[in-house]
Amino acid sequence: MKLKITLIIILLTYSLVNAQIVAIKAGKIIEPSTEKVYDNQIILIENGKIKEYGADIAIPEGAKIIDLSKSTVLPGLIDAHTHICAKVSILADQLGIDFLDLVLLNPDGYLAIQGSVYAKQMLEAGFTTIREAGNSGKYVDVDVKRAINEGLIVGPNIYAAGRIIAPFGGQFRTNADKQYIVNNEYFYADTYDELKKAIRENIFYGSDVIKIVVDSKQYKYSSDDISFIVNEANRAKLKVMAHCQTLEGAYNAALGGVASIEHGWTLPDSILSIMKQKNITLVSTDFPVNVLKAFGSNDEYAKKFHNKLIERLKRAYKSGVKIAFGSDIMVDIDNETRGEVALSYIDSFVEAGIQTMDIIKIMTVSPAELLGISNIRGAIAKGMCADLIAVDGNPFEDIQKLKNISFVMKSGIVYKK
Ligand SMILES: [Zn+2]
Repeated sequence: MKLKITLIIILLTYSLVNAQIVAIKAGKIIEPSTEKVYDNQIILIENGKIKEYGADIAIPEGAKIIDLSKSTVLPGLIDAHTHICAKVSILADQLGIDFLDLVLLNPDGYLAIQGSVYAKQMLEAGFTTIREAGNSGKYVDVDVKRAINEGLIVGPNIYAAGRIIAPFGGQFRTNADKQYIVNNEYFYADTYDELKKAIRENIFYGSDVIKIVVDSKQYKYSSDDISFIVNEANRAKLKVMAHCQTLEGAYNAALGGVASIEHGWTLPDSILSIMKQKNITLVSTDFPVNVLKAFGSNDEYAKKFHNKLIERLKRAYKSGVKIAFGSDIMVDIDNETRGEVALSYIDSFVEAGIQTMDIIKIMTVSPAELLGISNIRGAIAKGMCADLIAVDGNPFEDIQKLKNISFVMKSGIVYKK
């Protein structure tokens, strides 16, 4: 009996807390899905969702008030290409191995710890949603997502790619007698039967998106291979993200109808035009010079490669192809969190001449559409999840403000204030 009463009290308390309305007083709101900016707004939040917002909204009695009247409120940011379970190090040079192979030398338990630390760093920097692009052991990204969803650890909403599907060999170097090293992270699939099995394994173990590597080796997936992959994934309502680093790879992926081309380091205007026609998003992963150097590039190469990225980003923006933010960080930078490093990519967009509202769209609306979640996230609207961030001052006056996020709310819960 006593237990029953305690349980009822706990449930009542839970529902009261849960039903409590939160009122945010926002000095300014930037709403990227409609490209509108509003001054002096009240946002009411109930059960983790936006109930309504406007200038003349009455704050209900008993509501918890959050004063952001000197700040600008935006939708939570979305990074559509992360590797929170992975970290490479230039230490590899000293060990005499390919630096990327270091990703493969850590056991899954260690990757989970890395994932939980970097997940928190991403959220605190303002990224309320991320799409994990693999290199996370055997479905460790799916486990980190579960731990976040169950409240064990703190982090963004995760959409996980699970185990990367690639032609024989995956992306890295391995010896013929140590192929198993790569097996955790790469499913080698060359025939249609192997591709089907790889996709189904990913679906079975909880992947939210299918990640393929098209062109890391001398052999590449053809456009027919990719169409087959897209059809098989789509049958389970999953989209396909395609790592493309060559012209031929990007061309095959565009013809094959993937949802997004990741990196697209070599993208002539002709491929951009196919992408636009087929509504394929470019997740451009425009590494700043210091991140390239942390990956092991020398100063000269890093600058050259960065300039190449900016040149094609400029063309992509001009072409009208949809661009979504992706950081692709696998390295540590001194005195910066993983999330802060991701925010530093804003400079690449500025360098390419992209307008502030468009930069905000690239970091919110556009990845939300790519992830198929634009009905619940990536904008500020009635009924949407209360994933909100705030910056001090006005990012239209100074875009650098966007790098300093002072408030983070995910599904109505405040994680940074
Ligand atoms: Zn990546």
